[in-house]
Amino acid sequence: MSRIVCQFSCGAASAVATKLVLAEFGATREILIVNAFIKEEHEDNRRFLADCEKWFGREITVLRDEKYGASTLEVFRRKRYLKGQRGAPCSKQLKRDLLDSFRQPDDAIVLGYTVEEQNRYDDFIDRNNGIDLMVPLIDRGLTKGDCLGMLERAGIEMPAMYRMGYDNANCIGCVKGGLGYWNKIRRDFPERFEEIAAIEETIGPSAYLFRDRDTNERFNLRQLDPSAGRHDEPLPACSFFCEIAEQEITA
Ligand code: SF4
Repeated sequence: MSRIVCQFSCGAASAVATKLVLAEFGATREILIVNAFIKEEHEDNRRFLADCEKWFGREITVLRDEKYGASTLEVFRRKRYLKGQRGAPCSKQLKRDLLDSFRQPDDAIVLGYTVEEQNRYDDFIDRNNGIDLMVPLIDRGLTKGDCLGMLERAGIEMPAMYRMGYDNANCIGCVKGGLGYWNKIRRDFPERFEEIAAIEETIGPSAYLFRDRDTNERFNLRQLDPSAGRHDEPLPACSFFCEIAEQEITA
């Protein structure tokens, strides 16, 4: 029987999806739980991963890119862009390529989409109809809030980024974030903000993350209006598989 691969992103949804799959298939199927280590994630993500290993009663296989030292900043410097039409280079280099080298063609893949993400899942199916998929959260009608509640009841403290008000445990300074997100990063993690602003400046305007709405001119992070955006604007989670879908959508 084929393997089941759970991608663990240090987020609430992927943790609960993994737990549900282990409960349903743990005794009958080979289940692998994989995570991609990324240097720029909050260090508390590792504590959350260790807590979830205890909850699962299983070890998580941690994959680590060697070409770029598992660093998003190194990917940006060497690729000379931060975000393109086909998605974020960091996600491809540090997550998707690692998983591609690990995956077997008949693996069943567990996706941590919640019911709020049914549309994203539908798009994924449309573009990846050769892959055997499992969506335990959608199957059970579970929301992101439900997942947070389940973890709380299991006595697992959420990663620090959630507790600081972020939508997920993505890297500190995620290139998928909007204006409000980046203003929050500037307040909470000024050094990381400066590092990424400096990379933008070194590469030049083609690497700037944002454009002025009125003039359509690109502007550097340091020029970001401190009052722009909402602090609670959504930030898409970054997983091996969501990124595959997003790259297909934007291709
Ligand atoms: S979380 Fe954001 S910055 Fe980190 S790898 Fe994913 S897209 Fe890149």
